[in-house]
Amino acid sequence: MKPHRSFTGTCLQKTLLAPSVYELRCEKPTDFSFKAGQFVLFDVPLPDDPKNIQPRAYSIASASSENDLRFVIKLVPNGRASRWIEQVLDIGTSIHIQGPFGNFTLDVATDKPYLFLATGTGIAPLRAQILWALKVQVDERPMHLLFGVLKHDDLFWEEEWKNLEQEFPNFHAHISYLSGDADWHDERGSIQDRFVSLLREMPHPSVYICGAPETVKELKQLCLQQNVPKNEIHSEMYV
Ligand SMILES: Cc1cc2nc3c(=O)[nH]c(=O)nc-3n(C[C@H](O)[C@H](O)[C@H](O)COP(=O)(O)OP(=O)(O)OC[C@H]3O[C@@H](n4cnc5c(N)ncnc54)[C@H](O)[C@@H]3O)c2cc1C
Repeated sequence: MKPHRSFTGTCLQKTLLAPSVYELRCEKPTDFSFKAGQFVLFDVPLPDDPKNIQPRAYSIASASSENDLRFVIKLVPNGRASRWIEQVLDIGTSIHIQGPFGNFTLDVATDKPYLFLATGTGIAPLRAQILWALKVQVDERPMHLLFGVLKHDDLFWEEEWKNLEQEFPNFHAHISYLSGDADWHDERGSIQDRFVSLLREMPHPSVYICGAPETVKELKQLCLQQNVPKNEIHSEMYV
């Protein structure tokens, strides 16, 4: 693995996936390497003062085998990056990026089933990990993804999860909606409740959790209560 570095990549695609959630695709330098689960820092200028720059962290959602870098970003009211993405960033805009960083990477030494837990854009590094494990590592252990969103409108990449289930019999996606009607593979209820029932079906998993800090903390606590050993709990918080 090369040390982290900085580069400028052009924005190739900007798509609204769900309310306030954008998917960005960006040019990847040919010699850029990263481990699934890592993040980069975007240098984010103020829309009205482009020389005023601060970094913001974004997890890489693409697998290393994909040709571009993919990100999924939830806009927050009056956020610096949120305003820049909404008002300035477009196809063709240059993005200055540093990275990769982070240790939220798969432990391939364990042979336990993988249980991936995400809320909202916390799915980003988990997509990279799942694609890497299934397609690059060709790992046949059971893998379950539990993806929690508030309501059906907030769900994205649904088609991809369905296709992966078809292609890889060891991969299973579970969607949990906090409110509204449920349809595909899903149930109403909190990700916490769903997690506990899933653990009954697959005890002793290796768990990967990503999302908002409060939810990540709660899910980690639940893991400990359900006797998942500390060394099998891996997490990233979007602080
Ligand atoms: C390792 C890591 C990976 C991450 N990956 C992702 C990812 O893949 N996708 C994703 O969506 N997010 C991710 N995040 C979160 C992301 O880095 C940003 O925190 C998020 O996008 C908000 O950035 P922002 O610049 O828009 O908001 P900020 O400018 O950071 O503001 C955040 C909030 O604070 C408020 N605020 C700002 N300044 C003040 C002030 N002076 N007084 C009062 N309130 C204030 C803003 O109104 C806003 O609501 C990640 C975070 C980490 C640490």
